[in-house]
Amino acid sequence: MTTQVEAFVLEPRIAYFSMEIALRDEIPTYSGGLGVLAGDTMRTAADLELPMVGVTLASRAGYFRQQIADGRQIELPAPWQPEQWARRLTAKIALTIEGREAWVGGWLYVVEGHRGGAAPVILLDTDLDENHPDDRRITHFLYGGDEVYRLRQEMVLGIGGVRMLGALGFRIRKYHLNEGHAALLTLELLRRLAHTPDEAGTPGVHYDVPAVRQRCVFTTHTPVEAGHDQFAYELAGRLLGDYIDPEQLRALAGNDRLNMTRLALNLSEYVNGVARRHAEVSRHMFPGYRVHAVTNGVHPWTWACDSFRRLYDAHLPRWCHEPELLVRADRIPDEEIREAHAAAKRALLERIRALGGPLLDSALPLLGFARRMTDYKRADLLFSDLARLKAIAGRHPFQIVLAGKAHPRDEGGKRLIERLHGWARELEGDVPVVFLPDYSMDLARLLVSGADVWINTPQRPLEASGTSGMKAALNGVPNLSVLDGWWLEGCIEDVTGWAVGGESDSDNARDAALLYDKLEQKVLPLYHRDRAAWIAIMKGAISRNAYFFNSHRMMRRYAAEAYLR
Ligand SMILES: *Cc1c(COP(=O)(O)O)cnc(C)c1O
Repeated sequence: MTTQVEAFVLEPRIAYFSMEIALRDEIPTYSGGLGVLAGDTMRTAADLELPMVGVTLASRAGYFRQQIADGRQIELPAPWQPEQWARRLTAKIALTIEGREAWVGGWLYVVEGHRGGAAPVILLDTDLDENHPDDRRITHFLYGGDEVYRLRQEMVLGIGGVRMLGALGFRIRKYHLNEGHAALLTLELLRRLAHTPDEAGTPGVHYDVPAVRQRCVFTTHTPVEAGHDQFAYELAGRLLGDYIDPEQLRALAGNDRLNMTRLALNLSEYVNGVARRHAEVSRHMFPGYRVHAVTNGVHPWTWACDSFRRLYDAHLPRWCHEPELLVRADRIPDEEIREAHAAAKRALLERIRALGGPLLDSALPLLGFARRMTDYKRADLLFSDLARLKAIAGRHPFQIVLAGKAHPRDEGGKRLIERLHGWARELEGDVPVVFLPDYSMDLARLLVSGADVWINTPQRPLEASGTSGMKAALNGVPNLSVLDGWWLEGCIEDVTGWAVGGESDSDNARDAALLYDKLEQKVLPLYHRDRAAWIAIMKGAISRNAYFFNSHRMMRRYAAEAYLR
């Protein structure tokens, strides 16, 4: 395994830019689904030996470690030492931010594939002696600070990233923007490809927009206009200085504010949403752009627990290179599926004990729910009617495990965590409810494999894709979810899991009632009374969800439809 950057610059590559990338448990440079997707993208690139290079920020101070005290989230620092996992690059580049020169160095982290392939990731780092103290902090905090801090970070990621790749000798075939955070890279490309003067001899700078568009691929992840990254032009002007012609910038990034999504849309030839419904929603939000759909997927090896890895190795060799083979999961004996799941559930119950939680009953169904704690994910839906929940548990006993972080500035999300703890206390004696602190990759792997049913109840159509349910399916855990994001494509009722409600809008109370109905009438009775039918659904989750919703299929599609255009 090489750790020298020189080995990676021999062939032209696809540069994949992402503000966050979940490289491994020990490197806290991610906050949630976007980062995990980026990590799975690079892991698959290494497995499939796709010529890619990742670009992200070092985020030395990490995101944060979550502790819970009296039901409240406490945020602890989560620093990491790049020198422990990555190799320092000798190259440095500079960019001017707010009139001052800031130097950017970096680290090389190598993602190893399961067949000897490797994918380099460059972690940009401004914490250098030669920098002003304010500039040293630019790459410290993932999603930390105010909008000035954020725009500085985006300058380092987008502009600094392109310059660093050049300094290292990379030749780039395409730039893939994972969400709008890296959109400023398009400006650096405009500058590089500009003519001064143009062919007709007109003075001034002439940007070659088609040439930049031809090089860029943009994946949008946000189905609401307000969620898109934007900055006042006054601020942008202050930080960017005379970097780019302000008139032309407005023409490309929106009249009122510097909108990173607009900028990326206008300068990318290939644009996609992360599920079919999300692409439709994006087309409505941005009329006039051609928005493709590439539904997300999860990395097979990373997200299968030990017992399912062994099971697939035995019955479907090569499954982690060719996850389509999971389509044959029906041929695995029921007993072996049952045992593999029992091992995963034991591991989860042991972790719950080790973290000071109660001893849950391995014979009772365990409902799992873990995601970023923010209002639209509606973690509270399951607890809308505690009396009804208790009544259901009286007839069909069950248990609940929860996890999730709220962004430090998301007051609604933090209140939600407190309320969940309150409801857990009220349900004591009727329904055991456990909240596991510090949701991370490691915990996610335990949860998605050890739960019996994976629940997701977002407000439609705000779940662009969702990926934890795909991880559950890979471990034979069926989903019970609102029809939004990937589940619109993955749900085959009673075969891969169950839907909560229909495809169109409805209110919280109605969705909650439908969730309770499904639990009471279908899911829990089936679990308690018909083990063979239950295992058939577990196999359905594997053979009809996991075989498709994996990052190998996703990357083969990006390669064929976006990168090779
Ligand atoms: C998979 C994963 C997510 C994303 O899950 P969603 O279902 O898309 O919300 C977030 N955080 C962690 C730690 C994960 O592993």
